[in-house]
This record gives sequence, C-alpha cells and structure tokens, in this order.
Amino acid sequence: MSYVSVTQLTKRFGENTVFEDIDFTIEQGEFVTLLGPSGCGKSTLLRSLAGLNPVDSGVIAVDGEDITHQAPQQRGIGMVFQSYALFPNMTVFDNIAFGLKMKKLAADQIATDVAKVIALVDLQGKEQHYPHQLSGGQRQRVALARALVVRPRILLLDEPLSALDAKIRKRLRQQIRDIQKELNLTTVFVTHDQEEAMTMSDRIFLMNKGEIVQQGSPESIYTQPANEFVAGFMGHYN
Ligand code: ADP
Ligand code: MG
Repeated sequence: MSYVSVTQLTKRFGENTVFEDIDFTIEQGEFVTLLGPSGCGKSTLLRSLAGLNPVDSGVIAVDGEDITHQAPQQRGIGMVFQSYALFPNMTVFDNIAFGLKMKKLAADQIATDVAKVIALVDLQGKEQHYPHQLSGGQRQRVALARALVVRPRILLLDEPLSALDAKIRKRLRQQIRDIQKELNLTTVFVTHDQEEAMTMSDRIFLMNKGEIVQQGSPESIYTQPANEFVAGFMGHYN
C-alpha cells in the first residue's frame, strides 16, 4: 500500500470546479512535483492535502489513516509557501521554536530540536537575527526549518523558490533535495518551472486545467510526452 493515497478527490469554489475525481498515490520518501501552468489547480490541490481547503468529496489517506476531515494541525504536515510567512518581530530561533512552544515542549527540548534544524538548513549563527536582517534565501531556509522542526510526515512546498533570484534558487533546490533525502521525507513540491521540476523530482505530476495529464519520472515525461500539451509545456517547441 502506498504511503499517500488520494482517491476521487473533488474541489469546487462555487461554480468553479478546480479538480474532479483526481486519483494518485505517493510512496514514502518520494519527492513528487506538481507541475503546470498558472491557474491549473496546483496550490488548491496542495492546500487540500494540508487541510487548508476542505474538499467536496474523495478521500486523502496517509499511512493507512483517513485524514480527509482532520484539522491541518492534526495531519503531521509541514508547509512552506512562496512568500516567507515569518513573524517579523521574532528572532530566527523564536520563529522556528513557535510550533514547539505551542505543543508545550520543555525549553531544553525546544533548544535541542531547534538547533538540529538550524544545522540542517545551515543557519548556524543566525539564531538571534530578525527576518529583516536576512536575505530572501535565508528567510526561506528559516521557513523550511520551521516546517521541519515539528517532524512532519509529509512536507508540502508551494513555489518556495519563485521569489528568489536565479543563483540562490539553484543552490536552494539542491539544499532542499539533500535535506529531503537525508530525512527520507515524503515531499510534494509545487512549481510552474519545468527546469525546477526536472532537476528535483523523483516523479512529476503534470497538471492542466485541474487534471493530472501525465505522471512519471522527469526523463519519461520529457522524452515520452503523452500529448501535445505535455510536449509544449516541457519545452519541445521552444
Ligand atoms: P495554481 O496554483 O496552479 O496557479 P490555483 O490552485 O491557485 O492554481 O487556482 C486554481 C483555480 O482555483 C483558479 O481558477 C483559481 O481562481 C481558483 N481558486 C483558487 N483559490 C481560490 C479561492 N480561495 N476562492 C475561489 N477560487 C479560488
Ligand atoms: Mg499556485
């Protein structure tokens, strides 16, 4: 049985059906990328997995457990968005520790756990800095550390690199992938950038207008596009 199993998932906003009867599975430790043009439903699908968008029908199961109707904080999911949703008036340490303080962990346990993820994202020495004292890439690493510190069973990343300049973006791609592999963390990554998807993913789900039109390894999507849309989107006509 797959680690994540999504069955006949449907989401509407009023009259607008974003996706209907979507099915897919994800294995434990897999890095899956939802790739597709703007407006195709990537963020809505990710937010549905996170429990931030209640779905209209279907089932989301993780590790054999039906989480479809669980609250976001019960799901064991960590999430990072495009814009760094850090608390501006809190230090790096306090931003990362926030989730653990909510869980009422002991101070020494919090210090240990925060130090671990700070080392993981390579931000040693920045603990007492404030977000405005950091670069964009550093802020996204704080956001990543904050998502990781609660030891999520799934990591959801919604265009976390899109606001960064090209050089930092490339370095962070590698860093995210290295951390994900080290933790063997099941990850769903959203992007509209083919190159990002090609270089980072175990598997790509290519989406168009609310449908997964093809899923497979980066190589197979690129070399064996299922239709004209996939071929065009993967850059065969550029
Ligand atoms: P993507 O992330 O691929 O760019 P989205 O998931 O953001 O696409 O959007 C998919 C569709 O859902 C769009 O038609 C968008 O207008 C609609 N949508 C997304 N969020 C909302 C919302 N909160 N309320 C109403 N419609 C929404
Ligand atoms: Mg989006």
